Amino acid sequence: MTEGMTVGVVGLGAMGLGMALSTARAGFATRGFDLSPARLDLAQDGGITPVTTLEEVFAADRIVFSLPTAQDVARVIDKVRPVLQDRGRIVVIDTSTSEPDVSRAVAATLADMGHGFLDAPVSGGPSGAANGALTMMIGGTAADLDDARPVIDALSAKAIHVGDSGAGNVAKLVNNLLCAAHMVTTAEGLRLAEAAGVPAEAALEVLNAASGRSMMSEVHFPTWVMNEGFDSGFTMALMQKDVRLARKLAADTGTDLPLTTRAADLWATSPLAATDDFTRMGDFRPKGQDQ
Ligand code: NAD
Repeated sequence: MTEGMTVGVVGLGAMGLGMALSTARAGFATRGFDLSPARLDLAQDGGITPVTTLEEVFAADRIVFSLPTAQDVARVIDKVRPVLQDRGRIVVIDTSTSEPDVSRAVAATLADMGHGFLDAPVSGGPSGAANGALTMMIGGTAADLDDARPVIDALSAKAIHVGDSGAGNVAKLVNNLLCAAHMVTTAEGLRLAEAAGVPAEAALEVLNAASGRSMMSEVHFPTWVMNEGFDSGFTMALMQKDVRLARKLAADTGTDLPLTTRAADLWATSPLAATDDFTRMGDFRPKGQDQ
């Protein structure tokens, strides 16, 4: 199925580079494009063909996007309009965490030109991307999904077709709003345990064997918070973007979310730097109280 098929990856960051490595491993001749020469060098080291123009990357049979924001996605599509007008049908698989409205607009633009577009945001972090073990949540038509299926299989352990265009990003924003809240509530739980004389490690062991657990407590705290490594590969800037977009979705749909709105406030007003890892929000020992 992959024989002779080429994949072009636009955005070779923490996620995109791993995805390119996964499609290459699955047998696709993979080419990658990024604005950063350093990322292109890393891709080349991993056996990906680095290309320096969008025209070259869009000559591939299937395209994967892994870009920071919805605006980046829309900008790239705008730039490649002439290329898209001149080539046969292609499906763009947009794995960026984006905005449902932008996904719908881009899908409509591409459909007008005879092309397909899936919003296919992912969960699983850089290691899931590098291992082809992501969870993908997909919005778009069944026909585009069928077309993209070999690439999606190379990237994911589980792919869920959520619904029409935009549905993948709605599901992703809901997921990340909960992830952001769980990071804060788990940190508060561990802070309370320590204040009441129970070591955080012991409390975390209990949570993870009981009903207070989440992926934050089961994976993120043991791997990146308890050891103060804080290097999961997902930045504060990206999580703050997701939380902001989830709030916008709540406002647009008139949905009242008292608890997660409070959690979103904490993310929006955090003094952490945009480049800090998002797991620093789980630092449950406030400064000056380290033991
Ligand atoms: P990143 O900042 O590490 O990588 C983004 C890459 O895109 C950078 O290398 C940048 O140079 C490149 N880029 C920006 N604009 C470009 C353009 N116009 N053309 C080509 N390249 C361009 O970000 P990331 O962590 O890899 O995240 C990518 C997307 O995946 C984001 O939407 C993020 O929200 C989402 N995501 C990230 C994670 C994670 O754990 N890092 C998990 C799930 C989803």
